[in-house]
Amino acid sequence: MKTSNTDTELEASGASTLTEQNTESSVLRRALSLLDELNTSTTGSVIFKQVERILKEGEAEHVKRESVLLTIVKNFLTTYLKHLTPGSSLHLQVKLIQKQLQQPISSLEIQSLRKFIDMYLLHMARMDALDEQIIRDALLPLLDYYGEGKKEQLSHPDLFIPVESESVVIDKKNPLEDLIDELLPNYKVNADRENPGENFQGEYESYLSDQAGKSDYVRSELTSRINETVAKHEQFGVMLEVIRNGLKEANTIEDIEILREALADDVDGLIDAHKVLLINLDDAKKYFHMIETDSRHLSNELVRVRQLSITDELTGLPNRRAFMRRLDDELGRAQRYNFNLALAMVDLDYFKQINDKYGHPVGDRVLKCYASKLFTVFRQHDLVCRYGGEEFAVLFPNTSEEGALAAMEKVRDKAKQSFIEDGHIQVKVPSFSAGLTLFDTDDTATTMIQRADEALYRAKSSGRNRIEVVYKTKQDDSENDVPEDVC
Ligand code: GH3
Ligand code: MG
Ligand code: MG
Repeated sequence: MKTSNTDTELEASGASTLTEQNTESSVLRRALSLLDELNTSTTGSVIFKQVERILKEGEAEHVKRESVLLTIVKNFLTTYLKHLTPGSSLHLQVKLIQKQLQQPISSLEIQSLRKFIDMYLLHMARMDALDEQIIRDALLPLLDYYGEGKKEQLSHPDLFIPVESESVVIDKKNPLEDLIDELLPNYKVNADRENPGENFQGEYESYLSDQAGKSDYVRSELTSRINETVAKHEQFGVMLEVIRNGLKEANTIEDIEILREALADDVDGLIDAHKVLLINLDDAKKYFHMIETDSRHLSNELVRVRQLSITDELTGLPNRRAFMRRLDDELGRAQRYNFNLALAMVDLDYFKQINDKYGHPVGDRVLKCYASKLFTVFRQHDLVCRYGGEEFAVLFPNTSEEGALAAMEKVRDKAKQSFIEDGHIQVKVPSFSAGLTLFDTDDTATTMIQRADEALYRAKSSGRNRIEVVYKTKQDDSENDVPEDVC
């Protein structure tokens, strides 16, 4: 039975638990006793010493790793514990496991620990939120331990980062910092959902800089191989000179034989260096080709993800994000060059009834019909987007009120004549109501959208299937003058 630690010890930083254990384990002693016979001869005892050294080094390394992993597990359990109700059976169970975690840990213990950890992870995944402060308090001591001066252990390939070659590692960021970020409730996953394109771009850029680091490494390796081969050539030139002089002075067959052997050795060395160089050149060629293909693939993917992030999945129209970006651009242009700019908010009439009567898929097809047939009346420079649900927004750059109204009327005419086939039934496409507004001095995206929404509301309340226009008034200007003390 192992002696148990106190709670304080268990919760202490990784540094205190990571003390090296130099005591020989019974396994090591048993293995060495099997080789005791070797000590009866001088050669045998040299071999014994070698084996003993290798086994001890292996054992020390193992103990060190085991201790690091135990610290991580203990910290994990401490964090988990703080999220459990004291006195509950789960709380008690975790406390017991914590107390049992002592080095050396047997494979049986590892197996049962694994089962528990898997179970706890499942439980943690179901928790509503993890307490950020508790996680930081629990993990920061470990983070401190792996801070400056512990980089060597940190970048140990087996323990933390799988790297192809240590000299290739450029990002020395502490992986535990990533772990903490990942565990926290406001982890950037939310940001990803908000903006997949931009996040992908960040990852793409870090991938490229990673690849740049690696190709710099390959390039420098290759240069040093070439330099080595050149140096070998130079040595060979000197050697040839020596042998030529030697041959001139050689008096006996033995002298010539010695020179021949020296020459053969050097030629062999040169051939080997050439082979190594060829292999390296070939590897580098393959590596650069791989990077090129990977980069091309990634940049295509980047374009695709960016496109996806600004496209509405159902209709294929630009989404609200794309619309807001374009609205900002167009507002800038209208402001700078005094261009016209019209904005219409469109909402289908009694759309819910379509869903209710014919089902959601037919409703979806109505939305698609608007996107792919009715809205094709707009000019190429106009932008129609799915603003949300059964609402669309249309931007008319460089267009007068009459022009925008005419375009909207064309859509209204088309809607009157459009049907959706649902089996044998023809479903009439619903009409829409629209609110139109025109850019005026000092307008922002918000003020323009607000006015277009107000116009839409008027169109709905005055009976639907119509287009209303709302203009900016002097009152709007004074309403936009925000008093200084309002946040
Ligand atoms: P109103 O004339 O006042 O605009 O009435 P309405 O029925 O069009 O408006 P309401 O806001 O009551 O209902 C809008 C409906 O649009 C409810 C929602 O289920 C439906 N909807 C939103 N997005 C989609 C979608 O992607 N597909 C389908 N089929 N229906 C959707
Ligand atoms: Mg609506
Ligand atoms: Mg509607």
